Amino acid sequence: MRLWSRALDRVLGPPVPPDELPCAVPPGVTVRRGHLVPRVGGWFMGGSRRAAGAVTFGRTILANPDTPLTDDLIVHELVHVEQWKDPLFALKYCAQWMRHGYRQNPYEVEAYERQARFAARRGPLPPRNP
Ligand SMILES: [Zn+2]
Repeated sequence: MRLWSRALDRVLGPPVPPDELPCAVPPGVTVRRGHLVPRVGGWFMGGSRRAAGAVTFGRTILANPDTPLTDDLIVHELVHVEQWKDPLFALKYCAQWMRHGYRQNPYEVEAYERQARFAARRGPLPPRNP
């Protein structure tokens, strides 16, 4: 088990401890930080050579270490966690991606809309320290 866990950490990136997350995630949801999956996801789904900010598989959010881990990003990815509850989600997502591309994919439209509503309720973020 320990070997399996170490292999997962290596391939998917290590889990982010809950106290290092910008906001709480539901029980059973894991956030990992690793380059591999966001890079592959960006190449395939984003239609560009840029890595994705994060990719969600089931209840695991795989966040790109080069992307700031913000509550906006978590909110967006938690929409995908919900979408994954549909057993045919991966198939449906790919079908919509082939039809509409990444940004107009209805699953992404839903996630970006919920992210924008969350950001509007929260208000502007305080300036970051350099
Ligand atoms: Zn998304």
